Amino acid sequence: MEGYGGSVKLICFGLYVLLLVFASIQLPRAHGWSKEGHIMTCRIAQGLLEAEAAEAVQNILPHYVDGDLSALCVWPDQIRHWYRYRWTSPLHFIDTPDDACSFDYSRDCHDAHGKQNMCVAGAVQNFTSQLSHYREGTSDRRYNMTEALLFLSHFMGDLHQPMHVGFTSDEGGNTIDLRWFRHKSNLHHVWDREIILTALNDYYDKDVDLLLQDIEGNFTDGMWSDDVTSWKHCDDLLACINKYAVESIKLACKWGYKGVEAGETLSDDYFNSRMPIVMKRIAQGGVRLAMILNQVFSDTQEGFALPT
Ligand SMILES: [Zn+2]
Repeated sequence: MEGYGGSVKLICFGLYVLLLVFASIQLPRAHGWSKEGHIMTCRIAQGLLEAEAAEAVQNILPHYVDGDLSALCVWPDQIRHWYRYRWTSPLHFIDTPDDACSFDYSRDCHDAHGKQNMCVAGAVQNFTSQLSHYREGTSDRRYNMTEALLFLSHFMGDLHQPMHVGFTSDEGGNTIDLRWFRHKSNLHHVWDREIILTALNDYYDKDVDLLLQDIEGNFTDGMWSDDVTSWKHCDDLLACINKYAVESIKLACKWGYKGVEAGETLSDDYFNSRMPIVMKRIAQGGVRLAMILNQVFSDTQEGFALPT
């Protein structure tokens, strides 16, 4: 029996290795803010919803999440490799020309085959316009309101992750391998997750709620409280989305890529100077997602111009 047990263990180990191999094959690119980043963006947004929008979101969400939008904000990352949703894969990011440090919608918002509007800026636009049909009632079955809400909520997060509007040749930093403190990582992943996890570990006892309280405190009566009005000001949705993408690529150039060489080790200096930027982008993504949802679900048609 001894030998039998040993070979079972060996087979299990073999399967485990195979699983790891498959898992890495299935994930050609990192996914956008880590789940913690998306959860915080969506919690911030849901806390800022006005009554009409809060009710609409509650009605659109599946019952099993008990009205908690953040529970499903990572869903678009989980399904992007399923056959049915493979078309959504290019919607998580924008590839801009190397070193241009600019975003131009007609030049950059397309997938690898050149199909227009297939980028995160086009996706935010598209799902916002789908949600705006919610007011017309349930007779319009062209759109799946639940999916539109989850996609919009997720992509507003991705649009604010600076390295999601990155350079083409390095896939937004995905191919820039380096070390984060003592372990292997890449520049894209540093911005998706490493900075947030290191902050959680070092300052917040691994508790996302405590980090979230700090971020919310900064814009309710802290250092960003005077900026929130301008963050959420928006007369024309398309212009606003373009502005958010431009902010991201500018930050990617100034703080993401600057001075970083493949193969080096990033540690305290990089972490301390970039962490405030990550927190601010999460806050902005949340505040602006709330702004869009409040506008889309309000009975009055005031506010920004919507694409139809
Ligand atoms: Zn994503």
